[in-house]
Amino acid sequence: MDSILVVNAGSSSVKFQVFAVESEGALRRLIKGQVDGIGSRPRLRASGAGNDPMADRAYPIETIPDVPAAMQVAGEWLRNEARIHPLAVGHRVVHGGPDYVRPILVDHGVVARLERFVTLAPLHQPHNLAPIRSILANFPTIPQVACFDTAFHRTHDALADHYAIPHQLHAEGVRRYGFHGLSYEYISRTLPQIAPDIAKRRVIVAHLGSGASMCAMKNGLSVESTMGFTALDGLPMGTRPGQLDPGVVLYLLSEKGMTASKVQDFLYRDCGLKGLSGVSNDMRELEASLDPQAKLAVDYFVYRIGLNAGMLAAALQGIDAFVFTAGIGENSSGIRARVAEQLGWLGVALDPAENTRHSRLISAKTSLIPVYVVPTDEELMIAQHTLTLLMNGQSPNSRHERVS
Ligand code: AMP
Repeated sequence: MDSILVVNAGSSSVKFQVFAVESEGALRRLIKGQVDGIGSRPRLRASGAGNDPMADRAYPIETIPDVPAAMQVAGEWLRNEARIHPLAVGHRVVHGGPDYVRPILVDHGVVARLERFVTLAPLHQPHNLAPIRSILANFPTIPQVACFDTAFHRTHDALADHYAIPHQLHAEGVRRYGFHGLSYEYISRTLPQIAPDIAKRRVIVAHLGSGASMCAMKNGLSVESTMGFTALDGLPMGTRPGQLDPGVVLYLLSEKGMTASKVQDFLYRDCGLKGLSGVSNDMRELEASLDPQAKLAVDYFVYRIGLNAGMLAAALQGIDAFVFTAGIGENSSGIRARVAEQLGWLGVALDPAENTRHSRLISAKTSLIPVYVVPTDEELMIAQHTLTLLMNGQSPNSRHERVS
């Protein structure tokens, strides 16, 4: 059976999914798995399409010290036990820099260019590139496709792409890139089937997961985003603060004596819902908690979504639809109800019963703006891109052999 492997590698886990390629290029999810606890308590877990368990095994710490080792374990399990020999591998790569506006087939030259963006995303890019390098070394003939979280936002005009800093820094790459692009692209491609009348109009999409951002779309394209140079900006997230006066960073450096790497760790791991609540980074726990700090964190999250929606509505000069997606957006009717209240001044009103049922359309008939819940699927987006590039035969070496 022809299949596509999708890989999403982070610092402590390698997530993977396998899609069967069916007639006329349709894709069907076959396997979902991950190797997590890299360097601490490594574990391989995988399940089939119906969540049926396929593997769950722990490994000694020294056998999986890093991402390449995790990729090797996952690859061996896929080849030898699941009997998967993919036609191609699609990778999530967080940063495509200023130039990559779409996914690309990778070879050594492309990897070298993507290495340049490591300084722009030091916590993600090296881990995203590691499995690409191992597959290039061990299976040089299998086509690999890099799909970028920044690419969907490259339709921004110059105003949305700039900071008010000297031009030289912009030329060096200090720009407002925007992230979660694969999620927004999936929503953009799915909306015409759900709501053809609004898909081409002014839509705000709220990707609310452990990472959170919002995107303003017009004609299905990104015109503005709450994230900028890094995935720290914009909305508060599980452990990242969102919008923060750069003066706070200066204060941490000069008054608290923190090094740049300590500040980086602090901003990525100790802030956001976790830092503000002192309770948890998980919205489920915060919603269930009676702790006043947990309540403050939830209130802040909702408030900032409202503020940012106002900003994006200004960028779009109006709004014709609002979409919730990702872990919190798809699953928390409570947060959706509260965000809708924040948007009441725009004429948004939810239908409480449809919202509780997690229906596709959750706004009341009287709402001036329709509100949708659309589950995102970044991995399917990557698999589709990979298959498209494979079928177009744009491989750098034009070879499409399978891994054997
Ligand atoms: P994601 O990053 O898109 O996988 O989203 C993960 C986040 O979604 C978790 O950290 C949870 O906070 C949140 N989440 C998942 N399910 C629920 C739920 N039923 N209610 C509230 N939050 C949820």
